[in-house]
Formats: sequence, C-alpha cells, structure tokens
Amino acid sequence: MQIIHTTKQAREFVWNLRRNDSTVGLVPTMGALHDGHLSLVQASGRRCDHTVATIFVNPTQFAPGEDLQKYPRTLDADIAGLRSAGADAVFIPDQDQIYPPGCSTFVKPPDVAETLEGEFRPTHFQGVCTIVLKLFHLLPTTHAFFGEKDFQQLCVIQAMVRDLDVDIEIVPCPIVRDPDGLAMSSRNRYLNDRQRQRALCLSAALRQAEQAYLGGEQNPKTIENQMRSILSGDDQNNGVDSIDYAAVVDSKTLQPISDLDQPAVALIAARVGSTRLIDNRVLCAR
Ligand code: AMP
Repeated sequence: MQIIHTTKQAREFVWNLRRNDSTVGLVPTMGALHDGHLSLVQASGRRCDHTVATIFVNPTQFAPGEDLQKYPRTLDADIAGLRSAGADAVFIPDQDQIYPPGCSTFVKPPDVAETLEGEFRPTHFQGVCTIVLKLFHLLPTTHAFFGEKDFQQLCVIQAMVRDLDVDIEIVPCPIVRDPDGLAMSSRNRYLNDRQRQRALCLSAALRQAEQAYLGGEQNPKTIENQMRSILSGDDQNNGVDSIDYAAVVDSKTLQPISDLDQPAVALIAARVGSTRLIDNRVLCAR
C-alpha cells in the first residue's frame, strides 16, 4: 500500500490507476479508524478495481470549542487496518498541503445542510463540503464511499455532487454497529465504561422508532416523543446528558413531515458526558 503525502503525488497516483478505464474508489476519513471505516474500504474493493483512502482531520469542519485538538489520532494502526482491508494507497496530507496560506474559498452547502446538524453546528457542512470537493479534485476517482452513519452528510454530499456537476458516483454504505448496537464512531473512544453503557440508549431509541413505524404509527411526533423518553433514561439515570435533536423527517429533504406516508429517517444527536454522538435509522417502507 502506497503512503502519499503530497497533493501532486496524489493526483498522479489516481490518474495512473485510471489508465485502461479502471475504476477507483475514494474513502475519505479523519482517521482513528474502526470497522465502520474499513467496511467502506471493503465495499470499494468489491465495487472498484482500486481503492484510495484519505486520513485528514479537517480543521474547517470543527467550530471553536469542538474537539479538533483532542480528536483521536492512531496513525500506525490506521495504516495497518487500511492495508489489511485492501486499500491500494492512503493519502495523508499536512494541513498546509490542503489549506496553504491565503486559501480563502469555501463551498456554500446545499439546502439539505440547514436543518439538524446545520442548526447545532452552523459552520460544519461548509467545512465538510469544502474538504470533500477538494479531495474529489485532488484524487479524481470514479466512485466515493460514504457511511450512512453520517446520514445528513451523505445527503449533503449527494446534493453538492448533483448541483455542481461533479463527475463521481457516490456510494452509500450501511452503518456498522458493535454487537450491543452502538454505532461505531471514532468518538466512542472518549466514553468510559459507564458512559458507553448509557450511549446504548441512542440505538435503543432508534430501534423503538422502527418498531413503532412498522407497527403502523403514522405520527412522527409520537415517535419523536418515544425516542426522547428513552434518551432521557429511567430512575437509575441510564439516559444521555442532553439531546440536540431526536427527529423523524423526510429522508430526502430532511424537512419535518406531518405523517409517515413517505420515506422517512429517524435521527438523533445527543451528548453523553462531553461526547456528542449521532446515530440514525431509515424507516423503510412497509
Ligand atoms: P469520519 O472519519 O468520522 O469522518 O468518517 C469517515 C467515513 O466513515 C464517513 O463516510 C462516515 O460516515 C463513515 N463511517 C463512520 N462510522 C461509520 C460506521 N459506524 N459505519 C459505517 N460508516 C461509518
């Protein structure tokens, strides 16, 4: 597996792979890799002739006061994981390679970025769109793989690619969970044992949402209230510390809906201790 540090090498590497009409899959990450990330590399291996991953903790998607400085960095293990998952290369740029002094252009995110995460992290998707579009230019692959774990991010990137005519196929990949249901996340490393136990109420609330939906519940507000009640915990205080949102919305626009006669998704963002966790579940059509 090639380890690439410069933008020039990165572009040349991908163009070389693309000779002979080969397909190349891109897997952008911020490192601290787990099996969720590696599932994207494996999905790319099944779909494409070659796979290039990236590791870059993108400062522009963190607001002041968020966890940029303490974001986990596990580079040696990440490289070993990518190698065993079958990546052909990993691009690990310095901050200056991506944002040289004077760099001042940003992508304005699409409408679907405005709700949910957009309300609680108002500058987040501008940073995400900017880095992802830059990566699409630096590594001109045929496909890019993104996890449904970051459901709104996936919608935002699909809209950006459509609106800006980017010539790349976006491939959504399912959420990988630990056996007890917790969605894998680099930020799970921040949780102590007790907090990790409490974090299970996110996936429990989403399972309840799906059960209610499959049981015929038509009112999104009822499901939202049930999710909030599970997230709030019981007398033994098994809940989260705070809820940013627990919402059932249209799965394309992420706008509120008045009843569940259309494709919908349940999404949660909540804090356990100082760790902010997100998770979601698509409510499939019956
Ligand atoms: P991150 O390193 O958090 O920026 O994530 C990089 C990519 O991995 C994104 O496309 C995420 O949606 C995806 N990802 C993160 N966690 C999971 C998971 N548990 N299952 C599937 N994909 C994931």
